[in-house]
Amino acid sequence: MKSRFAPSPTGYLHIGGARTALFAWLWARKQNGKFVLRIEDTDLERSTQASVDAILDGMSWLGLDNDEGPYYQTKRFERYRNIVNQLLDEGKAYHCECSKQRLQSLREDLMAKGEKAKYDGCCRDKNLDSGVVRFKNPQDSYVVFNDLVKGKISISNQELDDLIIARSDGTPTYNLTVVVDDHDMEIDYVIRGDDHINNTPRQINLYQALGWNLPEFAHLPMILGGDGARLSKRHGAVSVMAYRDDGFLPEALLNYLVRLGWSHGDQEIFSIEEMIELFDLKDINKSSASFNQDKLIWLNQEYIKNSSIENLVSQLEWHINQQSIDVDNGPDINKVVNSLQERSKTLVEMTNGMKMFYQDFNEFDEKLAKKQFKPDSKNIIETLFSKLDDLDDFSAENIHNVVKEICSELKVGFGKVGQPFRLALSGNGNAGSIDVVAELVGKERVLMRLNMALDYISQKYS
Ligand code: GLU
Repeated sequence: MKSRFAPSPTGYLHIGGARTALFAWLWARKQNGKFVLRIEDTDLERSTQASVDAILDGMSWLGLDNDEGPYYQTKRFERYRNIVNQLLDEGKAYHCECSKQRLQSLREDLMAKGEKAKYDGCCRDKNLDSGVVRFKNPQDSYVVFNDLVKGKISISNQELDDLIIARSDGTPTYNLTVVVDDHDMEIDYVIRGDDHINNTPRQINLYQALGWNLPEFAHLPMILGGDGARLSKRHGAVSVMAYRDDGFLPEALLNYLVRLGWSHGDQEIFSIEEMIELFDLKDINKSSASFNQDKLIWLNQEYIKNSSIENLVSQLEWHINQQSIDVDNGPDINKVVNSLQERSKTLVEMTNGMKMFYQDFNEFDEKLAKKQFKPDSKNIIETLFSKLDDLDDFSAENIHNVVKEICSELKVGFGKVGQPFRLALSGNGNAGSIDVVAELVGKERVLMRLNMALDYISQKYS
């Protein structure tokens, strides 16, 4: 059994494409079949190498590995030419020289009459030998097929005109190449967005003219943005790699994508293995799915919480490089990640949280400093400094005891010590449990930062 993903490289891999790829991949994996990747790059004007790279990067970041391909349609022009010639020779296709102007006015006339714009077959019997090549679509009866998502679909051939299968420069068009490839690559399941559902009857006519068996078709309902319009750039990051950049884990994004139009009871969290086991085309919803950024963030946080430290460290590598954090200049990264795991919604948040362990800063958040570093906190910070300085074993436990001691000796609540301490350590107040953080930041850096806080107070209130 084989399924395929066949993107056109005219942009990055977006959320909708990734969802299509995931469903086709799951269906192949579930049946121990093969997953084929095919780059549909015949539109030479709109296809770019950068888009090919972006698609391959997106697929590989998501872990949607292919067993065959990537195939490139531009490498198969000869095969398409042969098929077009075969159809011409068999009288199943013909050349058409109708000018753009003629087609335009034909369209306008039909539309003015309230009819569907379609080619009138003017060149069908002219036996021309140049111009575009059109397929002789059957003129009567119906095309009927059973879509695995949408159910039975029936279209009258009268609604379909003679489709262009090759442009006047000889290059083939999408509807021809997709049929030839799905046949040649022995694809059993064509799983794609329902924006292609109108092409399917035309493609079925081509299969029949060529005497080829039909694959099964499954057309996936579209994805809408929160406002009910089709998901687009306007709704924020729609490129898969932008989600990587924003700190999402690929497994969280896959989990999010699988739920866009597919469900299994009310289960929300699926490991890849579970998705493969439970996924079924027959459980795909018929209606469109809505994209919900908050749910994606929730899932991402769940995945971060439950991920192994090892996985987080490896996924963080890209972010750490982006932010030029030198993780050799500070504590063991595994411990730092462990301390941040519970409180980070994204890897970007986590990376920002890592900075204070590896980078010194030279100023404090001004608003917080005004609040936390006041003349009456001077004594507290000085006491903290000297007691911490006295510690031989700079452990979280000992640090915790020092804070407790100061609270009882100076008769102040925990916040009076904890809050200025947290700000001194972090520069911006974002830090988890301060004793653990302080141990990881290390004695030398902690003392230096407490000194900076004291300097701030002396300068501001002298
Ligand atoms: N290349 C087409 C697209 O990106 C998909 C074709 C198909 O799946 O049949 O929209």
